[in-house]
Amino acid sequence: MNEEQIRANFERVQRRIAAAARRSGRPAEAIRLVAVTKRVPVEWVRPLVACGVGDLGENYPQELWRKAEALADLGASVRWHLIGHLQSNKVKKTLPLVRLIHSVDSLKLLRTLDESAATLSDPPGVCLQVNTSGEVSKHGWAPQHVLDDAEAIAGCRAIPIVGLMTMAALGTTAETARPSFVRLRDLGEELRRRTGLPLAELSMGMSGDFEVAIEEGATLVRIGSALFEGVEP
Ligand SMILES: *Cc1c(COP(=O)(O)O)cnc(C)c1O
Repeated sequence: MNEEQIRANFERVQRRIAAAARRSGRPAEAIRLVAVTKRVPVEWVRPLVACGVGDLGENYPQELWRKAEALADLGASVRWHLIGHLQSNKVKKTLPLVRLIHSVDSLKLLRTLDESAATLSDPPGVCLQVNTSGEVSKHGWAPQHVLDDAEAIAGCRAIPIVGLMTMAALGTTAETARPSFVRLRDLGEELRRRTGLPLAELSMGMSGDFEVAIEEGATLVRIGSALFEGVEP
């Protein structure tokens, strides 16, 4: 029964993504769903992959390592995304396992990743996490600081820097989250001008606010709870 529930949840999310994409004047394919599987057992992840969801996100490196191993039989149909804080001592083990790190939250971490990436033939991409809501509990560059660091960011040439990521403040509704998303899009444009990097990706939007994020230009949405609603342990 859980498999049917997960498929139904996925199809509902997919329809909502497509409708929001239309409102933003883009095709549904312009938005990539990253299914956030944190705290979810791998038996619930398999039916999602069977639906064609290949991008999976975890926010703790150790949980990502564990799940990547448990789902290794799925091979290239799964691409792992790290969406939470990465400590420097976990960089070496994490880099080869992931296709995208959404949560690069400091210049120091970016430089560590850049050094490690230089030793890999096909390093993953990264997004720079910006704290657009100003909450002290959130990781990431302050908006002005990411612009101040433009030159240093552009100097990291081994690690592909593909975009920006943000989270709206805790407890915001979809509508009150909108200014965070607008802010991230504007910062992306300004940082693109200052660095010459393409920065095509905007990773923004979760279960409670992904439609608004898409309306404001999200290319990656990170969705967990909406995909696992009503699934029984
Ligand atoms: C948990 C998490 C999500 C998904 O949140 P839901 O509300 O369950 O969709 C997205 N992004 C990050 C960084 C997260 O930690």
